[in-house]
Amino acid sequence: MSLAEIKNKIEIAAKESGRQSGNVTLLAASKMQDAEKIRPLIAQGQNVFGENRVQEAEEKWPALKREFPNVQLHMIGHLQTNKVKDAVTLFDVIQTVDREHLALDLAREMKRQNRHLPCFIQINTGEEEQKGGIPPREAEKFLKFCRNSGLNITGLMCIPPEHEPPALHFALLADLAKHLDLANLSMGMSRDFETAIRFGATCVRIGTALFGRR
Ligand SMILES: *Cc1c(COP(=O)(O)O)cnc(C)c1O
Repeated sequence: MSLAEIKNKIEIAAKESGRQSGNVTLLAASKMQDAEKIRPLIAQGQNVFGENRVQEAEEKWPALKREFPNVQLHMIGHLQTNKVKDAVTLFDVIQTVDREHLALDLAREMKRQNRHLPCFIQINTGEEEQKGGIPPREAEKFLKFCRNSGLNITGLMCIPPEHEPPALHFALLADLAKHLDLANLSMGMSRDFETAIRFGATCVRIGTALFGRR
């Protein structure tokens, strides 16, 4: 799909659920896409991107950000603690805060670099063992921990289990964010972003539908 087609679908889904499309950020998930694929999207006005791996992001984004200083880069993958320093330097938002040790390291590094990035807590809505994220029932306690550490937590993100209908997971994340008084909800990918918007997503992360298959 073209960028315009996706934006149109976002607009329709937002309108149908009584929302304004301007409240939904389209994040282009650019993992495994090289700069030649990314540049034309930026030229068309796309300015929020997400990457999964610090090392891969470091290979393409420092140059792209020099070229296009308005682009915002979100970390949307598992963040290893030995990559925290580089992540704080390169990214503008960290969406995947998912354990105490990482929260502490991020807070310390942000102070050191004086770069206080907005962060999201990743919630493991399906309580899948192989997946990162905080179980929903521990979210409140973890939010307090993060804030006591000095992190600026502004939202929640989730990746629903692959073989389940996502709607229940989106509903759960939306309820949790409301309960915790967090404004941002990062949920929905290529195959389910319209559903996510109906449940209140403020950020949809789209890769395949935008770039084609990886
Ligand atoms: C790759 C990725 C996406 C985009 O997935 P698509 O199905 O290609 O749209 C979204 N979120 C995360 C965390 C991802 O790793």
